[in-house]
Amino acid sequence: MNLFDLKGKVAIVTGGNGGIGLGMARGIASLGATIVIAGRNEAKAEAALATLRGMGVEAGFVAGDVTHKATCEALIASAEKQYGRVDILVNNAGTSVRKPPQDISEAEWHHVLDTNLTSAFFCSQAAYPAMKRQGGGKMINIGSMMSLFGAPFAAAYASSKGGIVQMTRAMATAWAKDNIQVNAVLPGWIDTDLTKRAREQVDGLQDSVEKRTPQGRWGTPDDMAGVGAFLASKASDFVTGTAIPVDGGFSISM
Ligand code: NDP
Repeated sequence: MNLFDLKGKVAIVTGGNGGIGLGMARGIASLGATIVIAGRNEAKAEAALATLRGMGVEAGFVAGDVTHKATCEALIASAEKQYGRVDILVNNAGTSVRKPPQDISEAEWHHVLDTNLTSAFFCSQAAYPAMKRQGGGKMINIGSMMSLFGAPFAAAYASSKGGIVQMTRAMATAWAKDNIQVNAVLPGWIDTDLTKRAREQVDGLQDSVEKRTPQGRWGTPDDMAGVGAFLASKASDFVTGTAIPVDGGFSISM
């Protein structure tokens, strides 16, 4: 029995054109799966596709804004049409607005919730029929340390990431009978475009993360590859509804 073989499987990764999404995609591709990345920035996607194809797997890009239900449906349909099946869905697309709660506008609130939580819901809903038909599947939702902790600048972001954990549990219970495992990953502080902006906006963040993290460093997108491979593969067939921190120990230290 090979627990870590994804040859013949098709994985969709929203926001897989960079950062954590590409790290997860690389982990899943390393086991042989075809990867479909979804996002808005085509130039970034071209570079990500070259990386994935360089690993010897098929890879495609579907352009679109996953905050719209119709885009999520079109994304799943397009992957199924082109590659014949959908086995793995990584709901990774995300954004942040860093402001005190009293300053977050209505548009900013909806932008963060729609990008981080609503997109994951509608992409999962769109992928469910295909996975059910095929006899099973894997969904991986990206939470955050803000699924567990609060911060003064993160009311909208923490709400969306807390929601990811509860949505994961609800879907895991609903779809267990269909052999679909739904899990969340809670990354610690990872060096990406998103956190480059955070380091510009939050004084002292670079150092405070290093001090607070037992492993003494920021994570890299490559640190996310292993958990992606595990949760996408047969090795995790009896693991569902969990929220796994990948954080260098951030969440277990004072
Ligand atoms: P990046 O900004 O590098 O990646 C975010 C990705 O999401 C981009 O590839 C972007 O693609 C895509 N995206 C954003 N909005 C949309 C949209 N409306 N439609 C389609 N794609 C979209 O950041 P990270 O890699 O850091 O973040 C990835 C995930 O990890 C997010 O959910 C984030 O909240 C989470 N996370 C990050 C942490 C970190 O420390 N970096 C810690 C914890 C969680 P495009 O540019 O093409 O729109």
